[in-house]
Amino acid sequence: MNKDEKLTMAIDIGGSKLLVGILDNSGHILASRKSLFVDPTETSVIMQIKEECHKLMTDKYRPECVGISIPGLADTKRGIWMYACFSGIANLYLTDILSREFQIPCYLENDANICAYGEKIFGCARNVTDFIWITISNGVGAGIFINNQLYDGFYRNAGEIGHIKIVRDGWECPCGGHGCLEAMVAGNGISRRFYEMSGKRLSAKEIAELARGGHSQAQECMDITGKYIGEAIGTVQNILNLPLIVLGGGVAMSFDVLKEGIERGVRKNVFLKANPDYRIEPTALGYEASLIGAAAYALYRNKAI
Ligand SMILES: [Zn+2]
Repeated sequence: MNKDEKLTMAIDIGGSKLLVGILDNSGHILASRKSLFVDPTETSVIMQIKEECHKLMTDKYRPECVGISIPGLADTKRGIWMYACFSGIANLYLTDILSREFQIPCYLENDANICAYGEKIFGCARNVTDFIWITISNGVGAGIFINNQLYDGFYRNAGEIGHIKIVRDGWECPCGGHGCLEAMVAGNGISRRFYEMSGKRLSAKEIAELARGGHSQAQECMDITGKYIGEAIGTVQNILNLPLIVLGGGVAMSFDVLKEGIERGVRKNVFLKANPDYRIEPTALGYEASLIGAAAYALYRNKAI
């Protein structure tokens, strides 16, 4: 590590786990800690974040700013975690609390937008002005860059691709609707599809592994999942006309067994003459995309890059 290297603390708050890390300004993770949330409440989550970060902030690592990736809705200007679908956390002034604790600037964004920043600054979208990042894991979300700027919408909630309707009267979705992309392709949806096909209850990761090994029902399950993802991408393309679509999140890590279905789904929905040339790629940032994205976002907000 260069002595003059500027360091960033990154905090990735997931639905069930907390990941904190120290990163250099090239997006490399120099140190990190992972812990699980047990019955998370507002107080316990704040306490756990403080403790985990202090363990990394030693004489060796003195970060200059903090980036925080939160699940749910964020007020980025005021640094408020507006809403989380787990734990009942709402209207939490998290950046105020952590700025006071660590005495350095803190910035907060929702996980999909944070990942888009990560991909734009350190990943495969570095040389692209317009792209969409799509997270597919336990939920489905997206971050959109237009003209090198995040587009978060007039009401700051753009990119809710997870609630595009894919299957008429399909499975129920946490939003209250039916047949949303999230209900059909997030981890639970894949498990449910495989259970209905085979009578076996497996995780999405286990099903992808079976598909890789040549299991025909698992392959069909992942193929249908890919097709739904592709149909949503086709719809997005008809509106945004992008050169690059980046897929991330746990499910997207199985891009190899989803790819064919995705391509078929896109072709079904996209107006090809208007969208003749685009790439669909898995994230270049791997499983740590949110952590790397949190660092990228902090550097961007702190005007360090
Ligand atoms: Zn929905």
